[in-house]
Amino acid sequence: MNIAGLTTDDLCAWAQARGATPAAARTLARFLVARFAGKKPTSTPARALLDAASAEISSALPEAEAVPAADETVRFAVKLADGAVVETVLIRQPARWTICVSSQVGCSRGCVFCETGRLGLTRNLEPHEIVAQYVIAQRHLIALPYLQLPIDPQSPLPPLRGRVRVGGPANVVFMGMGEPLDNLDAVLQAINVLSDPLGFAVPIRRITISTVGIVPQMDELYRRSRANVAVSLHALEPATRLKLLPIARKWSIDELRAAIARSPRTILLQWTLIEGVNDREADADALLAFARALDVRVNLIPLNPGPAEKLRAPTLAQVRAFQRRLADGGLRTLVRLPHGQAVGGACGQLAGRRRVPFTDRD
Ligand code: SF4
Repeated sequence: MNIAGLTTDDLCAWAQARGATPAAARTLARFLVARFAGKKPTSTPARALLDAASAEISSALPEAEAVPAADETVRFAVKLADGAVVETVLIRQPARWTICVSSQVGCSRGCVFCETGRLGLTRNLEPHEIVAQYVIAQRHLIALPYLQLPIDPQSPLPPLRGRVRVGGPANVVFMGMGEPLDNLDAVLQAINVLSDPLGFAVPIRRITISTVGIVPQMDELYRRSRANVAVSLHALEPATRLKLLPIARKWSIDELRAAIARSPRTILLQWTLIEGVNDREADADALLAFARALDVRVNLIPLNPGPAEKLRAPTLAQVRAFQRRLADGGLRTLVRLPHGQAVGGACGQLAGRRRVPFTDRD
């Protein structure tokens, strides 16, 4: 067992199963959860119980290599116990940090512009392997550069000093390697750990799960979590959609739209803009028609370089024109720049060419 996959309640249950009284179990659980999250525990558990926990519950984190980028993004190549490598990305935003985590080693969904999709699926991540990515990034912020980060003089962002609490919860986005809804139980347990008020206390409204549209699992997600949901839509014209997203063979756009309409909360639609493929006025008009009467907003993400060499991002002027057309049609639309380009715009795109596999270095 690894503490990164356990909530206060899980630890209480573990201690009580070993004969601890409810009060002693609660003290131990609170102590372990607080200490792992870098907080000062308010009380100390009985020595014997603590020793038993130390013997059975690991708090070890995977080895990780930090790769800082010029825009202050930090990418981590995280080497898991079986040697698999996943990516985690720490993204600086104006008011707080965002940590982008992976949910699978590889991915079976095969979106053509995605580096992770090219790899195929190796395995699902365990909850503790997902939470460990958050902890690695969070500790990097606290222990190392943070306020001493060299601020890029070209950066349009204001200095962070005084604006972000050191060690305060970051946003968490499941937009790294893998399709989170293909590993939903582990993702939801990781969210339980991250949002545990005695531990990392990440507010649920700061957590976003991104999916390429696994229709049956979307209802399950709405039912079991209040996390934000982002849907990677990318195309509406059937032939284009089929070319970009193999998943379109499984669920039609009408089925996906109906699943979006059933969401109890606003859905974020992600649209990776690809020159000559889905950046025309007709594409914007189709998106406006699709979004009519839905509670959605849109993120436009110029394509990152990926495995499909011929696919390119449009110019910034084209991106802005597409955004204006949507905004004029009444659709709330943001362009994700420059972080999207630095770390991968939509789910899974972060595993790009600059990934640093440990296997190349061992
Ligand atoms: S974009 Fe997301 S769902 Fe598609 S292949 Fe990549 S990781 Fe998988």
